[in-house]
Amino acid sequence: ETAKQPKPDWIRIKLTTGENYQDIKGMMRSKTLHTVCEEARCPNIYECWANRTATFMILGDICTRACRFCAVNTGMPTELDLQEPERVAEAAEGMNLRHCVVTSVARDDLKDGGAKIFAETVAAIRRRLPLCSVEVLIPDFLGDRGSLQIVMDSNPDILNHNIETVERMSDRVRAKAKYRRSLELLRQAKEMKPTIPTKSSIMLGVGEEWDEILQAMDDLRAVDCDILTLGQYLQPSPQHLDVVKYYPPEEFARLKEEGLKRGFSHVEAGPLVRSSYHAHEQVQSAEKT
Ligand code: SF4
Ligand code: SF4
Repeated sequence: ETAKQPKPDWIRIKLTTGENYQDIKGMMRSKTLHTVCEEARCPNIYECWANRTATFMILGDICTRACRFCAVNTGMPTELDLQEPERVAEAAEGMNLRHCVVTSVARDDLKDGGAKIFAETVAAIRRRLPLCSVEVLIPDFLGDRGSLQIVMDSNPDILNHNIETVERMSDRVRAKAKYRRSLELLRQAKEMKPTIPTKSSIMLGVGEEWDEILQAMDDLRAVDCDILTLGQYLQPSPQHLDVVKYYPPEEFARLKEEGLKRGFSHVEAGPLVRSSYHAHEQVQSAEKT
């Protein structure tokens, strides 16, 4: 067991409120909608919402899994809400988003893992906001190729699936997921739609070694993953995994260099970087390549 690490100075919430943020905040209140930005108390909310980027969680708020870093509740999921795609699209329209991230809990209880609802949500956003880019951050669908195909056929602008951690730590950090299965999903996504950029994320500070991070980058590049995000793990409650290390900004900068050297088209790396942080810029950089 490691001693508890004190939070360093560079983990600070940036308090800036722009006009866009206030607009969107008012909209969200009036519609009682749920974004990951708010529920996860994401420190980037002011910046993202000012840039008109937001992340919606679909398929309910109860997960069939219980990853040891994640604050989402585990249990019997709620019944599927078939109106959800339209409601999310309506909210995205009301927020006049430029970039919309759609993610979900893992619905291992559903035959398609919720893939159809993902695809319908992408389509509904496209109908209402044709200029908004849509990124899907999907679960692994237990490795089911047909479910992935349904999502890919909706033509998202970015297909995001997180490996979350290095291979050695995977079983401990996200028990029901598998490192190799996640890589395989990214490989298949590329095979199905070579022009859609793929993206993945590693959270740092759960006990991984430096060389293992580089290995994970190599593994992602081996399946042609285009975009990488690296952020600091923060413990959501004392019941969750301990933070073993806080990476200073200089180390994130070095890792970003390592990523770019390996050929990722875009690497977002920093203590407060989250999977969807600066995502609208990644669409632009992916289009340039
Ligand atoms: Fe929302 Fe993602 Fe931005 Fe956080 S990083 S505020 S979750 S869009
Ligand atoms: Fe959290 Fe996703 Fe793991 Fe569910 S599968 S516990 S939502 S990280």
